[in-house]
Amino acid sequence: MNTTLPSFYIHTFGCQMNQADTEIMSSLLQAEGHLPAVDEDSAGVILLNSCAVRENAVDRIGNFLQQLKGRKRRRKGLVVGVVGCVPQFEREQMFTDFPFIDFIAGPDTYRSLSSMIVNARETSRIANLEYDHRETYAGIDPVRSGRISAFLPVMRGCNNSCAFCVVPVTRGRERSVSFGSVVDEAVKLAASGFREVTLLGQNVNSYLDAESGRDFAALLDAVSRSAPEMRIRFTTSHPKDISESLVRVIAERPNICNHIHLPVQSGSSRILDLMRRGHTREQYLDKIGMIRKLIPDVAITTDLIAGFCTETADDHRQTLSLMEEVRFDTSFMFYYSVRPGTWAARNLQDDVPEALKKARLQEIIDLQNTISSGLYRQEIGRTVEVLAESESRRSASELMGRTEANRAVVFSGNDFKPGDMVSVRITGASSATLTGQPA
Ligand code: SAM
Ligand code: SF4
Repeated sequence: MNTTLPSFYIHTFGCQMNQADTEIMSSLLQAEGHLPAVDEDSAGVILLNSCAVRENAVDRIGNFLQQLKGRKRRRKGLVVGVVGCVPQFEREQMFTDFPFIDFIAGPDTYRSLSSMIVNARETSRIANLEYDHRETYAGIDPVRSGRISAFLPVMRGCNNSCAFCVVPVTRGRERSVSFGSVVDEAVKLAASGFREVTLLGQNVNSYLDAESGRDFAALLDAVSRSAPEMRIRFTTSHPKDISESLVRVIAERPNICNHIHLPVQSGSSRILDLMRRGHTREQYLDKIGMIRKLIPDVAITTDLIAGFCTETADDHRQTLSLMEEVRFDTSFMFYYSVRPGTWAARNLQDDVPEALKKARLQEIIDLQNTISSGLYRQEIGRTVEVLAESESRRSASELMGRTEANRAVVFSGNDFKPGDMVSVRITGASSATLTGQPA
């Protein structure tokens, strides 16, 4: 092993796909001979794996980089690299805004990370922002950060063109990991003691095995049969593409969680059309009807954006009424921020004032909290299966785990350990957490 290679420390921002990418980068760097550093202070190279989806996500990277500037000045030889979606999107502008950055690298270039780090010690301002539409990082054994639950990317990129979204710019065209690799990796995870796996993709319904033509429903079915002792989750489904055959697989296979994350973004068909989402409010509700018919106890979660271009008070009311109709378990809720390079940035005016966007978002959050509290209260008195994940933050004698619906449960845990599947009788509920006792 080359002991002169600098050790690395990675900060991860953003979505589950970024967390999975960090595990891939750790594996690639260790294979080249870099050691992981225990903290930033002892690292020879600090990497920021960045997210560009919303403006505040990009601002967070900026604030973080400002803090790194002093560290870089004090520590001669320290290499700083920004990788992931922000550099793919901001490109060389990053060197103008943060001149102390040594290199930038896009999501398709991680196989060359080690050489970029080595070269950065000689040459400054290296950029590798190539797209590689075949890169899936298949065959890389990720360095897993957990021991109970793992992320398993099944595809990368996105071929949709939602007007607000920068992902197709930052992550490029869709490509799927081969059917065999995904199934093999799931079997390996189960054999090494993992209890849960989440199959990841921006739009998993577009999964297509290039060789056999098999789709995501077939993949999910095969993974669940090959690793029957693991809980299987997946994200994200697109409402225009989720199929009855996929929902039937979820309904039939006992180890696939009865939980579907189905981002709707808005309850107004006019806004959905402007967002270029490819479905109306009515079509979304039809899909919800189909899902609930096949899986009556399913938990449905969503993403919502307040204040998209031209949104009126009536459009906003339609979002609230859709939330009341569907009764989402939980939601990820945002206010709209323009992302340069997107269709909306080029063609629409960001004309809802920020204060109004924030006020509408607050109404959405308040309504979601009321709905979640109601749904969670209905759980009191029931017994649910909980996968214990960790000690609870409140007390070492309590464990925190999740139900199939991904609801957090805190329960007295003296007789159990993380990784155990425990039947818990629910005795209390807030809008975000259930509490209970082992049954
Ligand atoms: N692929 C997923 C889908 O189609 O729903 C989600 C991708 S995106 C990383 C996650 C969420 O961020 C989106 O569902 C949307 O709610 C939100 N989002 C994306 N772009 C946004 C923007 N410009 N402003 C506010 N929220 C945004
Ligand atoms: Fe973005 Fe739409 Fe693709 Fe999701 S489906 S990543 S929101 S473009």
